[in-house]
Amino acid sequence: MQSSETTARQILANWLQVQNDVCDACQACGREPNSVQIVGVSKYVDPPFAAQLVQAGCEILGENRPQHLWTAAEHFQAEGVKPKWHMIGHLQRNKIRRTLPLLDCLHSLDSQRLAEAIHEELDAHDSHLRVLVEVNVTSDAHKTGLAETDLEAFLQSLAKLPRLQVCGLMAMTTLGASSDETRREFDSVRQLRDQMQDAFGEQLDLSELSMGMSGDFPVAIAAGATLVRVGTRLWHGVRD
Ligand SMILES: *Cc1c(COP(=O)(O)O)cnc(C)c1O
Repeated sequence: MQSSETTARQILANWLQVQNDVCDACQACGREPNSVQIVGVSKYVDPPFAAQLVQAGCEILGENRPQHLWTAAEHFQAEGVKPKWHMIGHLQRNKIRRTLPLLDCLHSLDSQRLAEAIHEELDAHDSHLRVLVEVNVTSDAHKTGLAETDLEAFLQSLAKLPRLQVCGLMAMTTLGASSDETRREFDSVRQLRDQMQDAFGEQLDLSELSMGMSGDFPVAIAAGATLVRVGTRLWHGVRD
């Protein structure tokens, strides 16, 4: 077992390094460093480690499984740790009720049924939720996310669900793709966003782009990412 002091120091060092790399990536493409937020993906570690990341300064945590989020949120409440939670993976409809009260933002909205079910729950509690629409820009039809060709109609339909505050797009890239391919995929998410922003004008604000992970966030930042979802790099040297 590592002592908690050693892990806290390691996690802080990882966090500072990732922040530094985000700054460098911003500078390299002429963007303001504060135009990119880091979502610390906690799915690889137990809640006490995730709490150390929050204490190191990471304000947003991302989880891809609702159960993990529930467990961590419970632990955090007892400890008085208060991150903003972003759900970055698929949210099953039967997990909506328990997950929504914990969430600041959902990155993975990708179907009409899910949108309607979430809206109904929000309505019952007179609340709102920030959401990103997940798009599939890869050539793999089995991947999660909406097909590019369905996006405009989907965004149109969300206008009838005012409790969902649509604020941008999220995308995953093809696993193991070459760096050129990854760059092209990030660029096509950005282009898709620009097209939709033009099409919808004032009706919609699609300023957020959630893309880029440990291996490719500098490329995503060059393409316009505003939220990078970083896991592996933050847990380097930390056992759980
Ligand atoms: C796990 C995960 C990440 C983080 O990936 P790393 O390569 O570990 O940084 C980002 N986004 C989603 C949706 C994930 O599930």
